[in-house]
Amino acid sequence: MERLVGVGASPGIAIGVAHVLSSRIEIHERRIAIEQVEPEISRFEQALAETDAQLARIQAQIAEREGDEHQYRILEAHRLMLSDVHLVERARRIIRDEQTGAEWAVRKALNQIQAVFERIEDPYFRDRKSDVALVGERLLRNLVGLGDSTSPEDAPKGSIAVAHELSPADAAQLGRAETLGFCTEGGGRTSHTAIVARALGLPYVVGVEGLSHRVWSGMTLVIDGFRGEVILDPDAAALRRYEARADVHRTRAHRLAAIRDVPSQTSDAVPIHLAANIEMLEEIPIAVDLGAEEVGLFRTEFLYLERAELPSEDEQYAHAVAALKSVGARRVTFRTLDLGGDKLPPSVRIPSGTNPAMGLRSIRFSLRREDVFRTQLRALYRAGAVGNMQILFPLISGVAELRAAKSICAEVCEELAREGIPHGRNIPLGVMVETPSAALIPDLLAAECDFLSIGTNDLIQYALAADREDEHVGYLYHPLHPAILRALRATVEAADKLGKPVAMCGDMAGDPMLCWILLGLGLRSLSMAPRQVPLVKSIIRSTNVREAQQLLQQALTMSTESEIEELVYGTMAKRFPLELTDGEEERSGG
Ligand code: PEP
Ligand code: MG
Repeated sequence: MERLVGVGASPGIAIGVAHVLSSRIEIHERRIAIEQVEPEISRFEQALAETDAQLARIQAQIAEREGDEHQYRILEAHRLMLSDVHLVERARRIIRDEQTGAEWAVRKALNQIQAVFERIEDPYFRDRKSDVALVGERLLRNLVGLGDSTSPEDAPKGSIAVAHELSPADAAQLGRAETLGFCTEGGGRTSHTAIVARALGLPYVVGVEGLSHRVWSGMTLVIDGFRGEVILDPDAAALRRYEARADVHRTRAHRLAAIRDVPSQTSDAVPIHLAANIEMLEEIPIAVDLGAEEVGLFRTEFLYLERAELPSEDEQYAHAVAALKSVGARRVTFRTLDLGGDKLPPSVRIPSGTNPAMGLRSIRFSLRREDVFRTQLRALYRAGAVGNMQILFPLISGVAELRAAKSICAEVCEELAREGIPHGRNIPLGVMVETPSAALIPDLLAAECDFLSIGTNDLIQYALAADREDEHVGYLYHPLHPAILRALRATVEAADKLGKPVAMCGDMAGDPMLCWILLGLGLRSLSMAPRQVPLVKSIIRSTNVREAQQLLQQALTMSTESEIEELVYGTMAKRFPLELTDGEEERSGG
């Protein structure tokens, strides 16, 4: 038995047999005679065609299902790589000039391309290295005659997929193949693949060093997505322990499913509105099924990632309409582009600066690239004629930015009216409170917009000056820091005073341990990862607002985050043992 530690990217526990995917194929140099060069190039071309045909087949399967456009486009990008001159010409040249076998030429070309990616500073382009690797390994499998045999769709039902890297499309395929979960050597907690895993409700552990050397297909594995652990070849005692924990979680999920249709309100009948944060259309039916009352945050920038071209106005319109249709009569809050920082699309150049999180990102980028912003706003306003929606501006740092964004909205509306194009009128415009400056002037912002939504993920990183992506300063990232509690209190109070709705859509909203603190602060609308909705609802239904207020009052008298955490986590774990503990100490991620 061996325990490997990574990072939990999607919560849950899975026990099953490993199915190792797309492991890097060992290739050795094979010299060829001059007369073999042309036949070898034809063999290479045939493998390219086979690889393309496989990808086209997967694409066709995806096309049959509605709402999978994102994965469809990723595959499109992968197919484009197969005709990329850097790969194809480079490999042909190596076969010809060095008289080597096609596999060796492809491996060498891939290594060269990946070395170029390694040197790129821009994190988005650097991360595309894994797409090149995925396509390259598939091509190599075809060249050496392994075909599609280790592709995700062949993973046996009930297995645990193990890979060096997984693309979001792979994760979706593994979900359809009914695997129990995945773990990878690379990857990140905030990657798109992690978002797909969470949407599918499958445990996922990323960043497990040494995984591919230690695991082989057929080995028994436990993956613990709560703690970010992978247990190889567990002994009987460990198996019993994990089975017991998995059982606790299953029973809990079963119990929570039963409250799906009951209203989200406290025991003293205060309604608490529960909404879902959505990145891709595929997540909406899951969110609705889990009892989300609306989409409180649609991160529209995900439509821009993983693709070479900017989406057109019509495509964005169709996307927004599809979202509105799949929520039925519920409302959708579309956040305008939050590009930049760690979310960089290949279709536009966004200068990363020395500190991307503080650079030209989000609303700053939209105001700089008005053409891109206007196209998105035209699409959203047109969709406003179809369903119930509002528009939310991210990373607003002051009233001037809000006014600039609002005036572009007004111009877009006038333009659509002049063109006689149906569009939504009086669509509510909101501000995300996620910069310290916004949290210091919530009254000024609330006075000039229709609603506020608090983005704690960014607010915490900026207020505490601790990068949310940097594990070295992770110890500073505390939602229960007194400074954060004060910022939240000021924001809620300012909105209430002006009679403007205020919601929270940062990860804090979906953390059941923090539920009383949020209710105590006066928040009545929470938007979270869809899977958190039933758990948070269950806590709410057994809560009396007075006890939540008392806990907050006590927390506000304390000076350090550790005192507050001890108080809050201790109180919640004692009060909600069924929801918040599984017999072993644990904080579940969202
Ligand atoms: C936030 O910052 O809290 C938020 C909801 O936005 P994102 O996580 O997309 O930055
Ligand atoms: Mg944010």
